[in-house]
Amino acid sequence: MSELNCIFCKIIAGQIPSRKVYEDEHVYAFHDIAPWAPVHFLIVPKLHILSMAQLTQDDSALMGHMMTLAPRLALQEGCRPYPDGGFRVVINNGAEGGQEVHHLHMHVMGGPRPWLRG
Ligand code: 5GP
Ligand code: ZN
Repeated sequence: MSELNCIFCKIIAGQIPSRKVYEDEHVYAFHDIAPWAPVHFLIVPKLHILSMAQLTQDDSALMGHMMTLAPRLALQEGCRPYPDGGFRVVINNGAEGGQEVHHLHMHVMGGPRPWLRG
């Protein structure tokens, strides 16, 4: 899938509506349309990177940025603090990794259990 018909590129560009969690020069974060948990949002790079399989050393800062944003945004979105609260981070890669949208994205899930899935 190219960036022209990529659903997440369209969300980043505002062509498809989303519930924004956070945005800066490098990333966009928004609530998942089909949440598994009381809190479930996605952090995506603005660059159309297909999956983690395409990452190079040059993407280290971007991935570090996404990883360090996750705990901050989890608290912002209502997850209780570690260790009693917490959150889960998932990145699916490829068909056998369960990836459905081929634009790299980090799931951040949290909130009181039970969850719908996971
Ligand atoms: P994957 O299975 O690729 O790791 O996750 C893709 C996620 O994107 C799924 O959890 C799915 O609910 C979410 N998703 C797919 N289409 C849309 C959409 O149009 N808007 C939003 N907000 N989330 C979407
Ligand atoms: Zn894309």
